[in-house]
Amino acid sequence: MSAVRVRFAPSPTGPLHIGGLRTALFNYLFAKKNNGTFVLRIEETDQNRYVEGAEDYIKEALDWLGLTPDEGPDQGGDYGPYRQSERKGQYAKYAHELVEKGHAYYAFDTSEELFKMRTDQEALGHHSAKYDHRTRSLMRNSLTLSPEESKTLIDKNENVIIRLKMPIDEVVTFTDLVRENVSFNTDELDDKVILKNDGMPTYHLANIVDDHLMEITHVIRGEEWLSSTAHHVLMYRFLGWEAPKYTHLPLILKPSGKGKLSKRDGAKFGFPVFPLEWQQEEETYAGFREHGYNPNALLNFLVLLGWNPGNDEEVMTVERMIEMFSLKKIVKSGAKFDIDKAKWFNQTYIHKQSVEELIPIAKQVLAENNITVDDAFLAEYVTLMQDRITLYPDFYAEGKYLFNAPTDYDQKQVKKRYTSELDPHFDAIKSIISDGNDATVLTDKVKTYLNDNELKMGVYLPLLRIMMCGSLTGPDLFEIIALLGVEESNQRMDTALAAFKSLG
Ligand code: GLU
Repeated sequence: MSAVRVRFAPSPTGPLHIGGLRTALFNYLFAKKNNGTFVLRIEETDQNRYVEGAEDYIKEALDWLGLTPDEGPDQGGDYGPYRQSERKGQYAKYAHELVEKGHAYYAFDTSEELFKMRTDQEALGHHSAKYDHRTRSLMRNSLTLSPEESKTLIDKNENVIIRLKMPIDEVVTFTDLVRENVSFNTDELDDKVILKNDGMPTYHLANIVDDHLMEITHVIRGEEWLSSTAHHVLMYRFLGWEAPKYTHLPLILKPSGKGKLSKRDGAKFGFPVFPLEWQQEEETYAGFREHGYNPNALLNFLVLLGWNPGNDEEVMTVERMIEMFSLKKIVKSGAKFDIDKAKWFNQTYIHKQSVEELIPIAKQVLAENNITVDDAFLAEYVTLMQDRITLYPDFYAEGKYLFNAPTDYDQKQVKKRYTSELDPHFDAIKSIISDGNDATVLTDKVKTYLNDNELKMGVYLPLLRIMMCGSLTGPDLFEIIALLGVEESNQRMDTALAAFKSLG
């Protein structure tokens, strides 16, 4: 068996959607699992849809996730170039070969003629009419015109394209590793354009020519390409080439499970559907990276969108994914996009990260909020907060009271618990804090004081927390006091007590 070669073949028409990213991941895992080669090929033959910056975006996203191609525009390789625009000279000859073999033909129709054909057909009750075995005889092409007429038009090179000639009433069957046998009747298929007037191939021709020349063994791509596969399989047959093995990945569905997840859904539901932030015209689309996701957590979330390891393992390193990966375990039904699951993975990964890894991340988040702190403080801060973080920006959101004393206090809780009779005991607690701020010692001393004086923990400790943080949330109270230091903690107690009096 020949060595496994797979490719990720995005078109740089915009940011890489989460579905494209999953395609890249599955190709990567399959290549690694089989000691094969993971190729990145940029499919930009359609210059009208080309978007500046999209290729760099794709590469940056793959790089962020560690899905490094073995061959590609930047890596090079024996099958290059890896950008279709740099290979454009090689496609036309295959279109001509198909014409010579009688499997393709020249068509000369103008857009007005195409429009007329569709409206005429509609008037006859044939809705969404296509250029196909039924209509091609009504059109101006090398099948209907004389060879001389055709030659004149070809030489003039106006509106000349090459279309694939679909056989009549033939069943094309191919094996999809997920769906087993997939069949299409050629009568349902249109005569796809394979070469455009400018001599450039369409996606269909360029894709199969490159897969063949790059010796791709397995095509793993999104379900939306399933209906094109019949055309592709036929082209392989017509050219006398062996087709690769196909696997079509299930759709990624909206959180409701109804319909395909779209780029608009991200903005609608307030979650990212792109790996990195992307700006186009007036719009900014959010990215998982900027939302504060760990790239490995995102990979872990993605791998389970349409693939099932066959046991209940959920949290997996990339090495483990490679070990477990098999195309047979890809599911047919659409995979629901559940952002809470993505957050859960992220939280789980952050819990597992080392404090050293998290320090620079927390530092950056804090810097973005104009907070600069030294590394010794950060190390303690990160240790204290690590378990409370779901997304990296929580390094600020969850602990901001540590950097700025609260100005608002949870009024309901204060009213429920505070009276000025408590003041002398808070004075005593203040002096305990002034004696030293080791968290364990403090916990012990304050609790002993409260017990010895028969005072209620459930009254004093929540109030003390509100003095420090403004509300009842946060990590261990005495750890917070230790981190704030004696001076700041006492200052917060004074300010809070003054405010409590006016609330009470
Ligand atoms: N260029 C196509 C895309 O943008 C590739 C589809 C395929 O993998 O064949 O998705």
